[in-house]
Amino acid sequence: MSTSSENQRVLFGAGVRHSLSEEVSRLGCARALILSTPPQSSSALDIAADLGGLSAGVFSKAAMHTPTHVSEEAVQHAREVNADCVVAVGGGSTTGLGKAIALRTGLPQIVIPTTYAGSEATPILGQTEGGVKTTLTDKKVLPDVVLYDPELVVTLPVGMTITSALNAMAHAAEALYARDKDADSTNLAIGGLRSFANALPDVLRAPDDIAAREETLRGAWACGAVLGRVGMALHHKLCHTLGGTFDLSHADTHAIVLPHAIHFNEQAVPELLKPISDLLDGSSPGLALWRFAKDLDAPMSLKDIGLVESDLDRATEVALGKPYWNPREITAEGIRELLQNAWDGTAPIH
Ligand code: NAD
Repeated sequence: MSTSSENQRVLFGAGVRHSLSEEVSRLGCARALILSTPPQSSSALDIAADLGGLSAGVFSKAAMHTPTHVSEEAVQHAREVNADCVVAVGGGSTTGLGKAIALRTGLPQIVIPTTYAGSEATPILGQTEGGVKTTLTDKKVLPDVVLYDPELVVTLPVGMTITSALNAMAHAAEALYARDKDADSTNLAIGGLRSFANALPDVLRAPDDIAAREETLRGAWACGAVLGRVGMALHHKLCHTLGGTFDLSHADTHAIVLPHAIHFNEQAVPELLKPISDLLDGSSPGLALWRFAKDLDAPMSLKDIGLVESDLDRATEVALGKPYWNPREITAEGIRELLQNAWDGTAPIH
């Protein structure tokens, strides 16, 4: 089954990865370079074997945060093997490498996502050079085709399944109050949240439940697509700050901070955030997200992922450093309290 999207062909279904040859030919290509991280090279080799004569081999050096030296090596390799398109098999890191190659060469891209990060649905690319991460938005990096095959996500470890899903839900939650939102983006965000609210508990009960995995992939696409359409606010800025300054895990930080950031903002825009309450347990949006995460056994406190309490003042300072739009006024006191609660892991209650 397909989902229409501006400038992107999106297919869902168990086994849909086996239609890759058709998709490569459809793009007018005949030499696809398959990309993966080192741990997913066997999946990439399987895909290459399936492609037969349309495969130009496998490049398995994708890494977190898209280091430019890896992208340059991949571009060189793509030229050497005369690749005329790239196929990223993996999560956001591998998709990032495909986007980086497309940016530098104009080669078309197909993505077969294996996490819920949602990068495949955005024209956004974050790249790292000399330890500094910069982000760009360019239509050239939006993948041409996405094949969402739930059979490839069943191997995603439970811990990553939870944090990757909450990371995706964070895009949709902030899209509900984005300054540039419209009816379409709001519907997309609600659809993404609904898919995860309905299917994630089933996935955790039975990680190989293909129907539930497919529903979560639909959520990943919707949450990614909305991230590509509207601007994010406090939650994403806080996670960027915490991740960049204190080297905390990207997905864990999102999972922990989300209920607290939404709790902070619900005091300014309660009506816009009401869909979260309606989709979860009916309690206030931040608390509903906190309970949802706790029931899933998600990481709940910043202290458990390596932040020390004495860093909270510095984190507040950095978070206030560069002003940005948010539906509620950001104050030092408000951010310090939010971060303390996220550090303690206590329920966000008024
Ligand atoms: P990831 O791609 O780094 O994957 C994490 C690890 O899990 C890797 O070792 C990977 O090989 C492994 N893995 C992935 N899928 C698996 C599966 N099904 N089974 C077993 N192992 C599997 O992690 P991610 O969270 O998907 O992506 C994070 C990156 O994506 C970050 O760099 C983030 O900034 C970026 N991102 C970008 C955008 C965008 O729009 N540009 C959006 C979201 C995330």
